[in-house]
Amino acid sequence: MSTVTKKRTVKDFRTDAASWWCPGCGDFGVLAALQQAAAELNLDPENVALVAGIGCSGKIGDYFNSYSVHVVHGRAMPVATGIKLANRNLTVIAAGGDGDGYGIGLGHFLHAARRNLDITYIVMDNQIYGLTKGQFSPTSQLGFETISTPTGSAERPVRPVLTALTAGATFVAQAFSGDPKTMAEIFKAAIQHKGFSLVNCFSPCVTYNKINTYDFFRENLVSVDDDPNYDRHDLEAARQKVIETNELVTGIIYQELNTPSYEEHLPGYREEPIVTQDLTIDKEELQAIMQEFA
Ligand code: SF4
Repeated sequence: MSTVTKKRTVKDFRTDAASWWCPGCGDFGVLAALQQAAAELNLDPENVALVAGIGCSGKIGDYFNSYSVHVVHGRAMPVATGIKLANRNLTVIAAGGDGDGYGIGLGHFLHAARRNLDITYIVMDNQIYGLTKGQFSPTSQLGFETISTPTGSAERPVRPVLTALTAGATFVAQAFSGDPKTMAEIFKAAIQHKGFSLVNCFSPCVTYNKINTYDFFRENLVSVDDDPNYDRHDLEAARQKVIETNELVTGIIYQELNTPSYEEHLPGYREEPIVTQDLTIDKEELQAIMQEFA
C-alpha cells in the first residue's frame, strides 16, 4: 500500500463522469465508502489500480479516480493478479458484482483466495443480474422469482463467505450499502490487510430485486461486532457464525495475520516493479543461455 504526504480528501477520488446507476442503487453506498476509505488511508490515486468487472457495479471504475481497467466478464481476478505481480507497490482493488464474481468468475475467485495475493476484492452483491434487466444470479435464493425463473429458481445459492473461508482467504468481511460508514472502516482494514481480502457488500438493486431490499437487510442483518466474545481470528468460530446467521452477518468475519502473501512465496521475485527494472542482458550472457538450450 503506497501513501502520500499530501493529505487526500474524498474529492481526490471523485471523477466528472455522469452517474449511470439508478437513483437509490446500493452501489452508490459502496462507491462513497471506497472513496472515504481511500482518503482516510491517504492513498495516492496514481498508485491505485481498480479492476472493474462486468455489470452495473463495473461502472465504479468510471466514478472512482485512480488507474482503472474495465475487464471482460468474470476476469477481474486474473487481471488484478497480473497487475499486482507486475508492480507490487500498487494498491490493487478489484470490484464487481455477484454474477461476475461468483458465476463466470467463480474459478478465478477461488484460486485468487487460496493463493493469498495481496489484493482487495469488493463484490457488490445484489442477488440479481441488474444490467441485463433482472435475471436470477448465483446468490439468488432458492425459489427466487425473476423474468428468467418465473416459477422460482431451482438452484441453491453460492455462499460467498463460506466459500472464501473454505478456499483459504485470509480476510473475509461483509458490509451493507445502507451503512457506508461501517463499510468504509471495513474497506480500510481490507486494503491494509497483507493478503487476499474479500468484502462481500449487500448492495440492493432497487429496480429489479424487490425481495433483498434495504428494509430486508436492516431487519435481518446482524453484526459480529454485536458479540463481545467474537474472535475474528478463529476460523471455526467464523464458519459457525456464518452458518448460524445464514450468511446474514456483517463486519470482519475472519482475519488471519502474519500469513505470507503469494508475492512473498515467489522465488526470485523482485520488489522493484518490472517497469523500472534493468532487464538488459549483455551479449555473452545471452550467448550462454542460447548455448544451454541449443
Ligand atoms: Fe443498480 Fe439495479 Fe439500477 Fe443496476 S439496475 S444500477 S444494480 S438499481
